[in-house]
Amino acid sequence: MKRDIHLVVLLLSVIGCSLASLTLWKVVASRERALEEANVHALNLTQALSTYADGIVRQSSVILLGLVERLETEGSGPQQIERLRQLVVSQQPLMPQLSGITVYGRDGSWLMASNRPIPAGATSSDRAYFIHHRDDPSREPFIGMPIRSRSNHEWVITISRRFDDAHGQFAGVVAVTLGVENFLRLFGQINVGQDGAIGLTHTDGALLVRYPFREQDMGRNFSRSPLYAKYLVDRSVGTASYNSSLDGVARLYAFRKSDSQPLVTTVALGKDESLAGWRLETELSVLVVCGLLGLTGGIGGLLIRAMRRRSEAESELLITQQRLLDSNQQLERLAKHDALTGVANRRFFDETLAKETSRVQRSHASLALLMIDIDYFKRYNDSLGHPAGDVCLKRVATTLAGCLRRPNDLLARYGGEELAAILPDTDCAGATMIAKGMLERLALEPIAHPDSPFSQVTVSIGIACISPSQPDLVSSLLERADRALYVAKQEGRNRLHVG
Ligand code: GH3
Ligand code: MG
Ligand code: MG
Repeated sequence: MKRDIHLVVLLLSVIGCSLASLTLWKVVASRERALEEANVHALNLTQALSTYADGIVRQSSVILLGLVERLETEGSGPQQIERLRQLVVSQQPLMPQLSGITVYGRDGSWLMASNRPIPAGATSSDRAYFIHHRDDPSREPFIGMPIRSRSNHEWVITISRRFDDAHGQFAGVVAVTLGVENFLRLFGQINVGQDGAIGLTHTDGALLVRYPFREQDMGRNFSRSPLYAKYLVDRSVGTASYNSSLDGVARLYAFRKSDSQPLVTTVALGKDESLAGWRLETELSVLVVCGLLGLTGGIGGLLIRAMRRRSEAESELLITQQRLLDSNQQLERLAKHDALTGVANRRFFDETLAKETSRVQRSHASLALLMIDIDYFKRYNDSLGHPAGDVCLKRVATTLAGCLRRPNDLLARYGGEELAAILPDTDCAGATMIAKGMLERLALEPIAHPDSPFSQVTVSIGIACISPSQPDLVSSLLERADRALYVAKQEGRNRLHVG
């Protein structure tokens, strides 16, 4: 039963462990899947946004190139500038992302502004893009840091080119300004969740636009952030996961470096938000599995308890059965044995004698009967007391029983201080030998009898036998043994007589 309980416990443990492992595996796998899906989604967004930003910058560059060419061929005198302004004003609605186009002279003074009249004495000689073009002969477009427009105080990004005079000397700068607001409007239409962010940065790490917009982030440099320091070093597209250096929020970042422009587009999704669905699914799974495990454990517990109870009941039954057998045996022993001496009682003696005599009649076997009586026992009681007489009686019975040799030999208390022995398949010679052995044994293990002429306890034995040739003597067996006993008494006791 214990083995069965161990097997049930093992089975339940295996089921429990398998269920828990499977759930854990599923939870881990679905977390990976959720992160993967978020990354793919973010990467797709960077693709679209990067293309958009690229397009705007490219268009701006192309416009600037046209203007530079015109300024370099026609010059930047007031008439040419006025014609240029009219052209620009007519073309500007074609590209609504442009906030304005401005032309600066070699000293940084404003020569033309597409979207407003030129304020008196306006100069941008201190602007980074102007200084860059003045000092750098490169004719490539320059994407400047976000600045606050001096005309409308809005945040703008400038894309500029220099133009030279006929001698190849620096003659001024043409710049388009892109309103950050336009980018924010587009980025705001994209659902990146509560913790998400979209960023457009220069490849040198300068932040150009970030959604959600925060004034303090503008112009910030991210060249030391993990994105630049680690991921963008050897890759132009990819994903990463770290805590934002701006607000400490854990995000999944997808980044894409433009092929043609010095721009990096970043889409960041809140990690917690991205895993919200997975978390809910996990909580449900864990709840269901815990319920199942609890149920399995509960049913297992009940099963084991029932098995234990059954086992206990079985053990109790076995014990009761054993007790019953023991008491039956005891009863049987009590029914067959004499309480004082421990040898067979008179009833069992009578039964056995009847059985043996009938067997002798059937099978013509031999049978001997010894009638044994303790000599002068009354005197023993009288001189040593009745309890001592009991002890003596018991000792004599035990000693005599020890003289019997065969399993079927039986010594019984016939009554009072009288014993009898049934010896199946024993003839007179054999019976005489046994009786002699009894007398000798008593002599060798003497029990003191102060009032006997022998000074010790002795017995007289009357022997009667049936030989196979005399089956008709069966009925008188007891009587003959008794008579022989009487003769032994008469002849002086402590002896045997064969009747
Ligand atoms: P004899 O040699 O002629 O047999 O003399 P006896 O004294 O043994 O015989 P008697 O029949 O006169 O006395 C038998 C005595 O045995 C009487 C009785 O008190 C005693 N006796 C019988 N049964 C028991 C018993 O169970 N315990 C004790 N202590 N004595 C018993
Ligand atoms: Mg007697
Ligand atoms: Mg006697």
